[in-house]
Amino acid sequence: MATSVVTPVSLFQLFSIGMGPSSSHTVGPMRAARQFASEIPNIEDLGSITIELFGSLAMTGKGHATDIALMLGLEGYTPEGVDPNQVPTIISRIEKSGFLRVLGKVRIPFKPQVHLLFHMGKRLPYHSNAMRLSAKDFSGKEIASTIYYSVGGGFVVTHDQISQPEAALAEESETGFPYPFRTCAELIHHCNETGKKIYEIVLENEKSLRSEQEIYSGILQIWKVMQECVRRGCLQEGILPGGLNVERRASKIYKTLQKNGADLINDPSEILDWVSLFALAVNEENAAGGRVVTAPTNGASGIIPAVLHYYQKFTPSPTEEGIIQFFLTATAIGILYKEGASLSAAEMGCQGEVGVACSMAAGGLAAALGGTNAQIENAAEIGMEHNLGLTCDPIAGLVQIPCIERNTMGAIKAINASRLALHGEGNNRVTLDQVILAMRKTGEDMKSIYKETSEGGLAITVPVSLPAC
Ligand code: SF4
Repeated sequence: MATSVVTPVSLFQLFSIGMGPSSSHTVGPMRAARQFASEIPNIEDLGSITIELFGSLAMTGKGHATDIALMLGLEGYTPEGVDPNQVPTIISRIEKSGFLRVLGKVRIPFKPQVHLLFHMGKRLPYHSNAMRLSAKDFSGKEIASTIYYSVGGGFVVTHDQISQPEAALAEESETGFPYPFRTCAELIHHCNETGKKIYEIVLENEKSLRSEQEIYSGILQIWKVMQECVRRGCLQEGILPGGLNVERRASKIYKTLQKNGADLINDPSEILDWVSLFALAVNEENAAGGRVVTAPTNGASGIIPAVLHYYQKFTPSPTEEGIIQFFLTATAIGILYKEGASLSAAEMGCQGEVGVACSMAAGGLAAALGGTNAQIENAAEIGMEHNLGLTCDPIAGLVQIPCIERNTMGAIKAINASRLALHGEGNNRVTLDQVILAMRKTGEDMKSIYKETSEGGLAITVPVSLPAC
């Protein structure tokens, strides 16, 4: 495992408003590029910037819009602030003019084919999602150079942070939560000591960063963006970008379900169609580069909104409080995976994306439905147990096949996991910590061809011929 840096993770990092199609290959690189640009000394002397991509970023960066994200980041845009509708215009301006405006103020020559290098087949030692950004002044002298790793879920660390863990630990002690935890056993220990539910522990931790009112309104804002994303996705028709000719399906299913009405008397299994619809809508928006919430990644961003919509539409008495409890509980579970394994498909395969989102959604739903801490743990454990070994093999490096459909499976599995757990007492044979360890070991043993490189699985058994760029 390369990602040894541990800092307190907030709900608002795990759930961040961004743009598609990938948290590790789009959101993370955009953040890294912006950070690099803002740390260049004497920026008025800047003459050029070169970006080198390694590992999975090189192999699937084109399909994941990494190049676009890096240019946007250098220009100073953020994943949460950039208007996805404006992106094609911004990129076309850079490509046509051959110039890029660093942080919106310093104009430098920038030609993607010269200044953005995809080192296919090469990887840096610490993580498969690596990028080196270097800046030179007018005379050609290097004035800055930083290696960043996009470690999943939009999180970015520098090479120095990974290679100097003491500094990271010092930083951690300055920003610690009142109830720190890295394992479920530690989390449950806090719960038992204080008599609190899991979501109350997370709320107390979040309160060390912002007021309770800010936490509540921030969560509801995230929920609103998720709902808008579902709504948009249900209305959009046509073919997704990238050249695979994948047709959007959500709008058709939406029309059919609306025609059928939602009383579900004739066919109760239509609930499955609704849940799939919610997930499809989000992931089609994500594949189109639209506005989505990382939950905890973009590739798996449909699962939690779909399960939340299920909670709101199909459970007997949904409340706003239940939605808040869902998010806070899902955050606790997401943190456990980030600490104990990874949210990066380049490290864990799709277990780290769809598997984690499924586990988070299962636990979140169990909490919203009034489950005990033990039932919540059990739901989260089941949510991962049946995703162990899930590989990442996106066809043509696009976050489309199998990703979009896979979110429907993850959402339905999460609901089932939650229901199974709520039927029991939480006396599960396998603990959440054990399943996280199993996931990590499985991810470590998985060949790199199944870890977001598009060198194995469906990515090689399904022939594609994409139009030349
Ligand atoms: S296969 Fe899974 S992990 Fe890989 S890009 Fe698709 S959703 Fe993400």
